[in-house]
Amino acid sequence: MRIIINREKCIGAGNCVMSAPAVFTQDDDEGLVIVLDPNPSDDLADAVAEAMELCPGKVISTE
Ligand code: SF4
Repeated sequence: MRIIINREKCIGAGNCVMSAPAVFTQDDDEGLVIVLDPNPSDDLADAVAEAMELCPGKVISTE
């Protein structure tokens, strides 16, 4: 799995960090998403799926 984000659409809600803290964090200035693990292992798939679902800006996708 590869994580793709459209950072321009991020509004800093932080739902992704709560769902998958091993994969996402937020920057200190604006709270915009930062990908910590762009190729997460399969055991994180459910957490990433939840992050995608809960992201209000639909910023996150995978391939
Ligand atoms: S949940 Fe979406 S909008 Fe919120 S910080 Fe994460 S990527 Fe950005």
